[in-house]
Amino acid sequence: MEPSLTYPAPSELLEEFEDLETAEERIQFLIELGQSLPDFPSEYCTEEFRVVGCQSMVWIVPQWDGELFHFRASSDAPMVRGLAGVLLSAYSGKSPRDILEFSVDEFFEKLHLKTFLSPLRSNGLNSMVKRIRHYADTELVSDGTVSPSVKTPAPEAAQDLGSIQDRIQSIRDEFPILSVKNGEGEQIAYLDNAASSQRPRAVIESISELFSEHYSNVHRSGHAWASETTIKMEESREAVRRFIHAPSADEVIFTAGTTASINLVACAWGNSNLQPGDEIVITEMEHHSNIVPWQQLSQRTGCRIVWVPILPDYTLDMKSYADSLSERTKLVAITAVSNVLGTINPVKSMTAMAHQVGAKVLVDAAQAIPHGSLDVQDWDADFVVFSGHKMLASSGVGVLYGKRSLLESMPAWQGGGSMIKAVTFDGFTVADLPHKFEAGTPPIAEIISLSPAIEFLESIGKQRLMEHERMLVGTAMVGLSKLDGVRTYSPALEQKCGILSFSVDGIHGEEIARVLDGRGIAIRVGHHCAMPLHARLAVPVTCRASFYLYNTLDEVSRLVESVSHAIKLLRR
Ligand code: PMP
Repeated sequence: MEPSLTYPAPSELLEEFEDLETAEERIQFLIELGQSLPDFPSEYCTEEFRVVGCQSMVWIVPQWDGELFHFRASSDAPMVRGLAGVLLSAYSGKSPRDILEFSVDEFFEKLHLKTFLSPLRSNGLNSMVKRIRHYADTELVSDGTVSPSVKTPAPEAAQDLGSIQDRIQSIRDEFPILSVKNGEGEQIAYLDNAASSQRPRAVIESISELFSEHYSNVHRSGHAWASETTIKMEESREAVRRFIHAPSADEVIFTAGTTASINLVACAWGNSNLQPGDEIVITEMEHHSNIVPWQQLSQRTGCRIVWVPILPDYTLDMKSYADSLSERTKLVAITAVSNVLGTINPVKSMTAMAHQVGAKVLVDAAQAIPHGSLDVQDWDADFVVFSGHKMLASSGVGVLYGKRSLLESMPAWQGGGSMIKAVTFDGFTVADLPHKFEAGTPPIAEIISLSPAIEFLESIGKQRLMEHERMLVGTAMVGLSKLDGVRTYSPALEQKCGILSFSVDGIHGEEIARVLDGRGIAIRVGHHCAMPLHARLAVPVTCRASFYLYNTLDEVSRLVESVSHAIKLLRR
């Protein structure tokens, strides 16, 4: 053990706390306790050691000497660092059994912690306790032998949590809905994730906690619940900023979803920047959400839509794209990932090409964001839009990221409460970003659900998620292509994510989907809000299986076997 990892004994803390009378004195004491903790190397500030469920950033690092656990902890909030110090006093230098048997509630009670901590801070504290108990639990289960997951890694060589496949059951356990069975007693294989994902427990709990513990409207009233709810909502904005690497949280506007975000840009930016003769470049693989608002804008302003075709390998025709750009191009609106083909488009280079002719770029990231963080600065996109419901969060919320200069130059779109600085009998002045574009009461719970969803995705990791999806979708592609009359519409595996559309010659997709549904397999059938793309593919509807972080190879086998069964059944 490093000699520096020693902390005041619990009895010492109790003694010192006893002399403190007011909440302010206790807060001061905690801050000082936090300041006295041993240094916390920045290399430990990783996702692996971060405690999910805390308002602020908290990290706990375990060290196991073969007999006892020693912990380090830190937080970006001074008082929370002090709370971590309380836990280190309680738990560091103890055996796994002592940790599990320690009556932490009693300890907190004696320290009067619960009486002056907000419900949110209490929850954060409980999350820290859970994390420490989890380490002890793992150690106890391994019967004294050192479990690799609790050895202290060298800071420079953070441990690998392993592939998703290695811990698929524990990931699935976080999603209560995945244990639901259909009327036939079949476990539902949910393969409709591109339409909407399922929600992990942390997201469900964030919503239920809000409504049962401190719900209020935001940015208005002066009472405690109002400020707690406002803090939570703004923490979500910060989590989104971090996840998409936006320069400022002011550039993160909450909307009702991708569709609402695109309509906001089409109206607020489009109405005042487009005129007859101007062009908007979009691609044949766009979702209707990234087509119709531009067609409406074209009707309003007389601008023209220019379509970039797809190639026979289901990628974009980049030569046509280059040819479509000219000084007439005012906007390029492209999807980062096709919701039908799964194709991942080269957004960064497309954006750079558009900027060379002075066009602005809007990226529809609705199908990109579920697969992990993205970098709006690296893309250099002017606007990026996405929805919460495809990335583990609630439905009813979405995001519009826009570059500050553009958002500031755009007129406010909808008028109402919250988007103004002042209203007089003669007019109004508009609020600063981001509130300028957030008229009325926002979808509070839905926004708050974004933060735990992001934490969940961060804990999985983008690389692992893509590897998992490609393993599943690759296996499905091989299995389905072997079946009689099945056509898949897909680029090569390395150019796609876990979305696979297919059709079966001579059998309507609805019939295939119905047989699969009877066997507990949920896929989507239809044009998937991409009718121009289906016209180009010369197929009216496709079946779409879309895989996500909780799907298994067993579900892929069930899909392939059931499509095979459906073909035999329906061809008879
Ligand atoms: N764009 C793409 C690529 C999509 O897949 C979707 C959802 N299917 C949307 C836009 C629209 O998203 P929402 O319905 O959440 O507004």
